[in-house]
Amino acid sequence: MKNIFTLIAAMILGSCVFSQDLNYARKVINDLAGEAMHGRGYVKNGDLEAAKYINREFETNKLSAFKGAYMQEYSFGINTFPYKLTVIVDGNELKPGTEFLVSCASPSLKGTYELIWLLNDSVFDPEKDIRFEGLSVSDKFIVTDKYHKNLKKDNYFGSKGVIFLKDDDANLWWHVSNGHDVLDFVALDIRRSKLPPGTEHISLDIKNKYIEDHKTNNVAAYVQGIVQPDTFIVFTAHYDHLGMMGQQAYFPGANDNASGTAMVMDLARHYAHSNPQPWYSMVFITLSGEETGLNGSEYFAENPLFPLENVKALINLDMVGTGSDGITLVNGKVFMDDYERLVQLNEKGAYLKKVKIRGESCNSDHCPFYEAGVKAFFIYTMGKEHQEYHTVDDKPEVLPLTEYNDVFKLLLDFVASYEPGFTIE
Ligand SMILES: [Zn+2]
Repeated sequence: MKNIFTLIAAMILGSCVFSQDLNYARKVINDLAGEAMHGRGYVKNGDLEAAKYINREFETNKLSAFKGAYMQEYSFGINTFPYKLTVIVDGNELKPGTEFLVSCASPSLKGTYELIWLLNDSVFDPEKDIRFEGLSVSDKFIVTDKYHKNLKKDNYFGSKGVIFLKDDDANLWWHVSNGHDVLDFVALDIRRSKLPPGTEHISLDIKNKYIEDHKTNNVAAYVQGIVQPDTFIVFTAHYDHLGMMGQQAYFPGANDNASGTAMVMDLARHYAHSNPQPWYSMVFITLSGEETGLNGSEYFAENPLFPLENVKALINLDMVGTGSDGITLVNGKVFMDDYERLVQLNEKGAYLKKVKIRGESCNSDHCPFYEAGVKAFFIYTMGKEHQEYHTVDDKPEVLPLTEYNDVFKLLLDFVASYEPGFTIE
């Protein structure tokens, strides 16, 4: 009888360990993507709130700090919109985030402006475009329904602003990587149904605030290895997101990248309490400034808190909230042995549908480390069960975390596979 009870107790305990991981991740994602963190950007110091939260969790789990502190401060310039944003079409005030977006490089602008409509247009060259002959557009807005990268960047027509119509079923997605400079024209994305064809004017009151020297922090901690403490396995994830646009619209960033941050914090907690201690020193770096263009990882790679040449492998996690279609390994084609081992481990554990291979791509925080000579990977999950990307609807309550536990277990196996003498039976 006693043995059966022990067995049942062990089973309950065992299942608790796994469900607890997911519960912990859910809690962290709810907290990081909650309204109180203001989208973890540059309005209301959302990124600092998030950094303090991660700092507290590292402290609670008694992780070690490099040079006496988890926080690594640095700064950059960034344009923000902390004030009320007003866009009025035919007396109808549009809602920021769901009905319009203002490009992060936009300046302040107030007034009513005439609209020039250029629909279904593919020829975009003011020299060739006869519609512009003798027409000054410097006090007008151009409306187009095709995305023109150069028009958004340079506005070569020299208009007061540009409006890109977005179909009602397309994601209204914002980005801030262009926010280091303020341009001399306003660019807006507007839902097509909110700006009916033929509308003659638009009224705006947009006020920007450029922060010259926004102070922000990477938050890093480690668990000392027991056999080879001077060799490191590193997990990274960016915790920052887009912040707020105006006073109401905030971008929760549950998948991007509260999910990866939660997994790194969960791994940190796991290794901090693991018995025996890990073979190598395990490092956990949550980075800021990713959305502004990999600023945090660039800073860390240039100012490392431990010797990067002693890194066995670095695994960056960015958007791991799905998984029904498996995971992708960026840099898998560069480090084929590691990729093949990961595939074998996945098969042995029957974890994920597939491990897709990719080559180099400078699309997340692994990149500056890779460029500094580190064996760095980037893992993200795949699946159509959550498609909110950079929208106000990337919320915790709709994030499925389909394969969270399996990705977590695969990562533990992958870490163990770097120990000398490891074999897959
Ligand atoms: Zn992002």
